[in-house]
Amino acid sequence: MSGLSPEVARRRTFAIISHPDAGKTTITEKLLLLGGAIQMAGTVKGRKTGRMATSDWMKMEQERGISITTSVMQFPYKGCTVNLLDTPGHEDFSEDTYRTLTAVDSCLMVIDGAKGVEDRTIKLMEVCRLRDTPIFTFVNKMDREVRDQIEVLDEVESILKIQCAPITWPISMGKNFKGVYNLYTDTIHVFTPGQGHIIPDDIRINGIDSDEAKELLGDIYDDFFDEVELVRGGSHEFDLEAYRAGKMTPVFFGTALANFGVREMLDDFAEWAPAPLARETDQRAVEPDEAKFSGFVFKIQANMDPKHRDRIAFLRICSGKYTRNMKMKHVRTGKDVKIADAVTFLAGDRSHVEEATSGDIIGLHNHGTIQIGDTFSQGEEIRFSGIPHFAPELFKRVRLRDPLKLKQLQKGLQQLSEEGATQLFMPLNNNDLILGAVGVLQFDVVMRRLKDEYKVEAMYEPVNVNTARWVNCADERKLEEFKRKCADNLAIDGGGYLTYLAPTRVNLSLAEERYPDITFRTTREH
Ligand code: GDP
Repeated sequence: MSGLSPEVARRRTFAIISHPDAGKTTITEKLLLLGGAIQMAGTVKGRKTGRMATSDWMKMEQERGISITTSVMQFPYKGCTVNLLDTPGHEDFSEDTYRTLTAVDSCLMVIDGAKGVEDRTIKLMEVCRLRDTPIFTFVNKMDREVRDQIEVLDEVESILKIQCAPITWPISMGKNFKGVYNLYTDTIHVFTPGQGHIIPDDIRINGIDSDEAKELLGDIYDDFFDEVELVRGGSHEFDLEAYRAGKMTPVFFGTALANFGVREMLDDFAEWAPAPLARETDQRAVEPDEAKFSGFVFKIQANMDPKHRDRIAFLRICSGKYTRNMKMKHVRTGKDVKIADAVTFLAGDRSHVEEATSGDIIGLHNHGTIQIGDTFSQGEEIRFSGIPHFAPELFKRVRLRDPLKLKQLQKGLQQLSEEGATQLFMPLNNNDLILGAVGVLQFDVVMRRLKDEYKVEAMYEPVNVNTARWVNCADERKLEEFKRKCADNLAIDGGGYLTYLAPTRVNLSLAEERYPDITFRTTREH
């Protein structure tokens, strides 16, 4: 990445995409272990923040079963500053995941070697493809009886439509797993089982032709030699440009549980993964090296401090630097705000960080004014694009048990919708409060949080809405006419945007035909 200042050039901001159970959590722990951010995998330490002692922080995390400190984890590795952004595992929170993917520069795809390409990975890859996000691949669980790995790579190529360039290749599997062979350095990394909680020794054998290699492989030597020939001949050679363009993925094998193969992957990741990239706004592309600060909010998370009902807005820095007490402009509201106490996310016990730069994530304390997608800048009127809301497919009406609590209910729903926990729709023609979700579980979470955090007892009722579309029209007059004629189907969403609520698909098609000047969108971009 020529031209970038060293500080920006060494940033690596990424997320892990995988199907549940493939090993994302396990590999995250091992990455933190390798980064020196935790001493022993499994004990992810909180860090002291300006507002809360570590112990409080951790207690809260335990109580709530959520992890805020682990939403973003920063650790140093081989001269790089790595930012790993966690994504919720459950598919009902996929919206949150999709938005997190807009805040990274690359992804690590973890695949279960026994299962190959699974549903959720397919979906997440579709999202990555929208921005041609570069992808590293780790095929996990080589300590198990897995499938033929040539077949798995064929599957990746044909289903995920990305070329595979194996960098390492597994030597046998399951009980006989012996290690991985690096096709480029002609080095065998020897597997020693049972070292999951420590950083394994790096035992290497140089040269597949060496006597040590023959000794290690024994009976399977000739077969493995042939296999390597086959793999070399039948797969793509790694090409950095193709990787950076999202067209090719370097593939590594190992077992996250035993902490093997992860380091070999991380070494190359530090070298090949892109530094912060330029970001599009409604005006122009913003370069990571620009002096003035800018960034966008991709996620809002509640309960940093339940007493104050504080929420943290996660902001990806796109240019410039954050320094303590700096002033920035909240572009949507037009207000200048002074940020004294942003949260930074250096994993492990380290001193407080006062500065953050392009590629880093900072957490802004939010008292209800910040929304997902908001841009912060140093004065410039720009809005980062591409942070979507997705049209929900599930809808329910909320009914209060105690009508006197209407204010709390409205406030709660408004806040939960700003956070992205649910989507809120307020019809133009009545006082209903309609919730939309992408996954069923979101409804349960909202009900529970309304009760816990807002002391509101409510219930759900069915509502005759099948799908929603955000509507717009360049022609004011036509929009007004549409609003008059379709008022019964129109609502304002939690962000103040006009939405068409369709009782059936047929109704939606008819409306689209009847009003060709109106655009009906399945995603709402900020
Ligand atoms: P996630 O749902 O993707 O976060 O997956 P986890 O990291 O929680 O792993 C799912 C299960 O697979 C857990 O029981 C892990 O212990 C296990 N697991 C993860 N990596 C490996 C591996 O390399 N080998 C084996 N045998 N099991 C693994």
